[in-house]
Parts: sequence; structure tokens; C-alpha cells
Amino acid sequence: MSTTSTPKPVHVLQLYPRDMNIYGDFGNALVLKQRLTWYGYQPVMHSYDPGDEFPEEVDVVVGGGGQDSGQDRIQQDLLGISEKLHALAENDAPMLMICGLYQLFGHYFETREGHRIQGIGLLDITTYGTDNRLIGNVVSESEEFGQILGYENHSGQTYLGEGVKPLATVRTGEGNNEKDPHEGARYRNVIGSYLHGSLLPKNPAIADFLIGTAVAKKYGEALGDSAAPGLTALGLSELTAQARSVAATRPR
Ligand code: GLN
Repeated sequence: MSTTSTPKPVHVLQLYPRDMNIYGDFGNALVLKQRLTWYGYQPVMHSYDPGDEFPEEVDVVVGGGGQDSGQDRIQQDLLGISEKLHALAENDAPMLMICGLYQLFGHYFETREGHRIQGIGLLDITTYGTDNRLIGNVVSESEEFGQILGYENHSGQTYLGEGVKPLATVRTGEGNNEKDPHEGARYRNVIGSYLHGSLLPKNPAIADFLIGTAVAKKYGEALGDSAAPGLTALGLSELTAQARSVAATRPR
């Protein structure tokens, strides 16, 4: 409840920003940084690219999308840090993986040419490349986060296994694949999604889930406990509301 003491650190790890960062996915890290500050914490931002040292302290993990070639470039390194990521997930660390990294958090992504890019199997999902790219704004509904909006662009189509739950049900657009109405996947506090845009500026409920889970685990407090008085009402800002309504009505 302190408002004058030094802000408590929260460590945010962004995976592979060099190769896995398209359609503004970097914005997810920026949103976490800004909202942590608003909520009275000190964000400590780490980025991890192939060959880097894995940070000792990690409270939240985010990762973005990328071309198939980018997925190829990071694959070996990702398999090398798989054990650390599994340990974090089993310890209920919150994570958000978008598109290309969502696919590689699954068992594998097999491209149209039959080239299999092995994933870390943290999410019970498999992905197959198709000739039909799924492109456009997606409107989906989730019990936990309400309406989730974002932009999809992928050739891979993802199928969920028994070990995950869908993140949301698609109302407009395609999401995981053309056959079922699901978007994204959820395992413990790990969220996978196809939605770029970036996702978090338009969906602050998910940002607050990631931050709120991290500070509850680390400091045993609720989001807002460390914020300066008057700074707790971080609902949808006017700009966020505008971005959401434009995305909801524009197909591409
Ligand atoms: N290369 C993958 C696909 O097209 C991922 C694309 C992305 O991250 N936007 O399915």
C-alpha cells in the first residue's frame, strides 16, 4: 500500500524481438512497461535473441510473430531454452505468445512444403501451413477477457489438443483455423493467440491479467495496491475504445 517507497521491480522478458516481431508485436512489451509504471511498479525490460544469456529473473514473458524464415532462425535456440520456459509455465508465470511464437510454443509447425519446424510443446497444439492465408481483423469473445480484437495474417492453421483450452470464440475472421471457431489457446497462465495489432493496446484486460498475475505471484498484492492514489482506474481510454471500434467494423 506504499506510495512513497521505491517502486518494486517486475521483470518482463521479450523473446526474439529481432526475428519474431511483426505487425507491431513489440507494442505488447511497451504496453506492459507503461501499465506497470502506471500501477506503481518498476518495469525491468529484457530482450532475448539467439545466443543471449537467459535472464535470471523473469516475471512475464511475451513473444511475437514472424516469417517462416524467422521461425527457422530461432528454432534451435528456442529448443535450447525450452526447459526454462516449461519451468516458468509450470510455476504459473504469465506469458503471451503471438502467431509465429504461438505456433512454436506448440508441438510443431509444418509448412506447405512439408518442412517441419519443431516447437517446444509447451502448448498442446499443432500447426499446418496452407495455401490460404488468413488475413484481417478478428472479433472474438472470451469468458475471461470479454471481446478480444486483433489482426490476423498467417498461412499456418492451428489445431488444439486436449491439453489446452481455446482462448476465445471467433465472431468475425478465422482465428486458429478455417474449420473450428476457436482463436488462440490457454494453458495455465500461458496465452497463445494469432492476433497482432499489437494485441495489448486494444485489449488492456489481457495486459492487466499478465501484470496482475505477475504481481500477485511475486508480491502477493492486487493490481493497484502499489499505485499512487487516483491512478487505479486504468479502464479503456478513449483512444483504446476508438481503436477497438474501428477494428471491429473494418474487415481488413
Ligand atoms: N509464418 C507463420 C505463418 O504464416 C507465422 C506468421 C506470423 O507470425 N504472422 O503461419
